[in-house]
Amino acid sequence: MIPRTMAEAQIPHRVDAVKFVEQIQKLSGEIDSSELTRLNQSVERCLAPINCVLSFERDEERHRLLVGECSTRVAMICQRCLDVVEVEVSSRFELGLVFNDDQARQLPRRLEPVELGENGQLDLWAAIEDEVLLSLPAFPAHPESECQLQQPEPEDSNSNEQQPNPFDVLAQLKQK
Ligand SMILES: [Zn+2]
Repeated sequence: MIPRTMAEAQIPHRVDAVKFVEQIQKLSGEIDSSELTRLNQSVERCLAPINCVLSFERDEERHRLLVGECSTRVAMICQRCLDVVEVEVSSRFELGLVFNDDQARQLPRRLEPVELGENGQLDLWAAIEDEVLLSLPAFPAHPESECQLQQPEPEDSNSNEQQPNPFDVLAQLKQK
């Protein structure tokens, strides 16, 4: 069968995954990130749609696969300076499309299981949202040169001086 390309700007929310696998369907397009509740709760702000390139296919062992990549840009809180940092998120994935837990357990390790609805429906947005969530950095931070909080600054410019000995300070006070 000749692979078909569906040139849609928007990735459909739900698809007939079984049919798409038989058709070796390719999809590329965007998902409006403002529609993805869990993602919006996990980041400060979504800054771009999620770009996706997806392919429904079977591997040699006849597993149904969704192979693809997605990328987007989000604002998160820098864990060093607590200011906003823009983060590029991207993910490549190989999902094994299954109908139940038994099938999920039989998948080879390299395939991440995703469960289909009874008639082979796949919530594509949720599957992609999961991938983006998994790819968010656990410790978002600016590159060191751009972070507000660089190495802690000493209070005066004589940074090489040692901390004053408290007894010296006391002695000076007594002399006054
Ligand atoms: Zn920072």
